[in-house]
Amino acid sequence: MPDKAIFLDRDDTIIEDPGYINSAEQVKLVPAAAQALVELRKLGFKLIVVSNQSGIARGIIQEQAIGQIHDRLKQLLAEHNAYLDRIYFCPFHPDGAVQKFRKDSDWRKPKPGMLLAASKEMKISLADSWMIGNGYADIAAGKAAGCRTVLIKSNIKPPEKKPGDPDPNFEVINMREAVNVVKREITRKPAPPQMQTIQQPEIPQSPSPVPAPALQEQITIDEAQQEPDNEIQIEPSPPAEPPVASNRTEQLLEDIKLLLKSHQRNEQFSEFSAMKLLAGVLQVLSLFCIVVAVWYKLSPTGKDDAVFSAIGFAVVFQLITLTLYIMHRDK
Ligand SMILES: [Mg+2]
Repeated sequence: MPDKAIFLDRDDTIIEDPGYINSAEQVKLVPAAAQALVELRKLGFKLIVVSNQSGIARGIIQEQAIGQIHDRLKQLLAEHNAYLDRIYFCPFHPDGAVQKFRKDSDWRKPKPGMLLAASKEMKISLADSWMIGNGYADIAAGKAAGCRTVLIKSNIKPPEKKPGDPDPNFEVINMREAVNVVKREITRKPAPPQMQTIQQPEIPQSPSPVPAPALQEQITIDEAQQEPDNEIQIEPSPPAEPPVASNRTEQLLEDIKLLLKSHQRNEQFSEFSAMKLLAGVLQVLSLFCIVVAVWYKLSPTGKDDAVFSAIGFAVVFQLITLTLYIMHRDK
């Protein structure tokens, strides 16, 4: 009997994406991603990463770095008792700078090559499998392979939808909600659409140990270049279902918190202004004038005119300084 799998995008689905990740030190798990993988494995799914890594073709990511990055990913997941069965990645891009990887590949999402290869090599039933990702290329690949699809639509980094991009079967806001959707869909009995109520079982917060699967492999670049030679029958995509209208309060609150933090950071940066700098300089000049006035006063040859002039300058500088401070405070 074939296995079923959850195909997972990598960047901004399992690990945070600051741009092109080209070293193991940059690998940081998306919050709740590891726990989500633990839950998905409990549901009987194999967990397979399918990731476009055009940075290799573009010369941004070194070939050897990709292995280190994925080793780090596995290590971080293992700390939470989460494991991947295999990682597929596509190093190709038609506009790549590295000639070896410059080509249009069937493995590059939105094409379903990686999913079809996994199905063939790991005996995966695509009709019983899911594709979860944060981009429409993930959804297109999943649908083309005949999987059900879940789009992670973050409020912080919403995916860009282009004309012709297929709609996902479900939209969620994070991996935790994606797990809830999968869990709900595979456990409920078939019912008329109007009877399909949305229920979101809670994910236990404490991680429970799950034995590591015997097979944890990573497709190497050399293997990745061997594209499938047999045509695989693609099953028709299931009909689109309405997006999940779930309670998103928790995520919205998290987003608001992030926005407030960002706003706070901006304010901290704006603390340093030209007005404050000028006020500081004038304050120093004012003090300097006072020192000069005292020096003239104590000097045997000092003249009263010079003392009064220095004090006059000090008072003027001080008044301007105070004015600038008040203006800055009221801004
Ligand atoms: Mg992604």
